[in-house]
Amino acid sequence: MAKKQFKAESKKLLDLMINSIYTHKDIFLRELISNASDASDKLYYRYLQSGVAGVRKNDFVIDLIPDKDLRTLTIRDHGIGMTMEELESNLGTIARSGSQLFKQEQAGSESAEEAAGAKAAKTIDIIGQFGVGFYSAFMVADLVTVTSRAYGSDQAYRWQSRGADGYTIEEAIQDETGTEVVLHLKEDSGEDEYSTYLDPYTLKALVKKYSDYIHYPIRLADETLNAMEPIWKRQKSKVKPEEYNEYYKAKCGDYLDPARVIRTSVEGVSSFTALLFIPSHTPFDYYSKDYEKGLSLYSSGVMIMEKCPDLIPDYFSFVKGLVDSQDLSLNISRETLQQDRQLKNIAKNVEKKIRRDLESWLKDDREGYEKFFAEFGKQMKVGLYENFGANRDVLQDLVLFWSSTEKKPVTFAEYVSRMKEDQTCIYYAAGESVDKIDLLPQTEYVKAKGYEILYLTDEVDEFVLQMLMNYKEKPFRSVSAEEMSESETEEERARIAQAEEENKDLLAYLREILTGKVSEVKLSPRLTASAVCLTTKGGISLEMEKVFQQMPFDQGFRAERVLELNPDHEVLGVLREAFAAGEEGKEKVKTLASLLYDQALLISGQPIDDPVAFSRLINELIVKAR
Ligand code: ADP
Ligand code: MG
Repeated sequence: MAKKQFKAESKKLLDLMINSIYTHKDIFLRELISNASDASDKLYYRYLQSGVAGVRKNDFVIDLIPDKDLRTLTIRDHGIGMTMEELESNLGTIARSGSQLFKQEQAGSESAEEAAGAKAAKTIDIIGQFGVGFYSAFMVADLVTVTSRAYGSDQAYRWQSRGADGYTIEEAIQDETGTEVVLHLKEDSGEDEYSTYLDPYTLKALVKKYSDYIHYPIRLADETLNAMEPIWKRQKSKVKPEEYNEYYKAKCGDYLDPARVIRTSVEGVSSFTALLFIPSHTPFDYYSKDYEKGLSLYSSGVMIMEKCPDLIPDYFSFVKGLVDSQDLSLNISRETLQQDRQLKNIAKNVEKKIRRDLESWLKDDREGYEKFFAEFGKQMKVGLYENFGANRDVLQDLVLFWSSTEKKPVTFAEYVSRMKEDQTCIYYAAGESVDKIDLLPQTEYVKAKGYEILYLTDEVDEFVLQMLMNYKEKPFRSVSAEEMSESETEEERARIAQAEEENKDLLAYLREILTGKVSEVKLSPRLTASAVCLTTKGGISLEMEKVFQQMPFDQGFRAERVLELNPDHEVLGVLREAFAAGEEGKEKVKTLASLLYDQALLISGQPIDDPVAFSRLINELIVKAR
């Protein structure tokens, strides 16, 4: 019998395919099972069309038959089979998909009867449309034998190939309609243990992993391995919450129930069903490089990618689950569909759905949402900051910050709704913890005015607000920023201007002795109880400076510090007296200024340059207090 060559382009493709397209050898089983499922679909569809009674989906069993002695794995279906011509064209030409043609033919049909057929074809969920899956068999087999008898034919044919060198087709005997694919497995070598595909345990695991929701029974001996009906295709009202929880734990590798289950179906340009979960706790590696985001991608019930990162934006990377679509126009490999337009469409819809769900969660179950936010909020805040705030519309109403007046996390919208009539800014204060921020002297003034302050405790927070700049046109303003003029009244300004004038020389002297430490020393209206505080000029706050300094390459970003003095505090009186008392007094002012600066640093949660010198000065004062 003459050996036929694969069509020219096929030969090249086959090599490419075997060596590069698929990264996991395991997926050959998924591909062959999918083909068997497609073939069963086609025949089932014929039956439906011709009205053959009594045929049920479950009659189309797919059998897996490992044979250790022969070193073969057989995949057998009772589907539509292939004629000799079909064997030739479908398996002899790589990248030609019979299934795709079938779909097109049905969709392109004209008559009413045929149109009904087209509709049915659309709903029949054919998986294959790329024409390369079959060849994945050569990743694990050195000889592939396909014996097939087409529906309506008495004659069976056998197609056989060892790979790139070509194939043969001959007549064969087979009692039943359908196809049998026999893989003679390659010899084991090193890491490649092909004989594992003869092991029932491996086969079961692979079916569970990739083909659990094929809607025909996949049998090994007498056991059906797959669940068949996808949980996300079952009627919503029929699925109990526990079933989702169990599914989540089994498939998403968590030991706790999810906090939230989102199930949605979208019809349209890209139809799909999504089953999404929000974990109830942060995975241990979530904020590390090891964490891989992504949703499982199914095409008509068959898993084609375990973690498809393109389905989910980074700021929702905590969401787990799957997307199932029959509309994916996958090309070449089911593992490389990043650039797919349909996929992008789906991803956009998934994002919208998650966002809406989070919004209603926030509205309907505040406590639950706050708990969720404590786990994953940081990720959304990073998302707000990234790409120059491009995602603000998606995220800005989903983030929470601690409120000084409400004593709980609040949204920007809630803050704005409570703003005082004369209030123009959204005030915030950054620090290590809510308690510590609450003690900052800088907050005294804003609190005294009755304004609410957002307390920022995450490193990323201040960067986020600086990036956003405003919320609904209300600018964000740090209570530690030197520029707070919006909140000052005319009266206050006049009073401070007068006090500055009166203490002009003292302030100039203080500036001189604190050169290098602060860029400005001034009197401030914002202090009530405290004597001093540190504020900053420009975009970099003390908190941000800390973050910059922790970065692997310190780029030298420093906050521009301003020492603010309370004009009404007795300390200022002491400084004035000393300053007026000649040279000796000026020495005293030097000592006191150094103490006040260190004090301001400590209050802001900053380290002081020389704790020993600081302690010595304190001790001198203690001794004098005798
Ligand atoms: P795809 O499934 O994407 O079309 P494959 O390379 O997996 O591509 O298969 C090529 C073609 O071979 C299929 O479209 C189908 O027409 C035919 N085929 C493969 N396996 C079978 C089978 N078990 N029964 C009937 N036809 C099959
Ligand atoms: Mg296929």
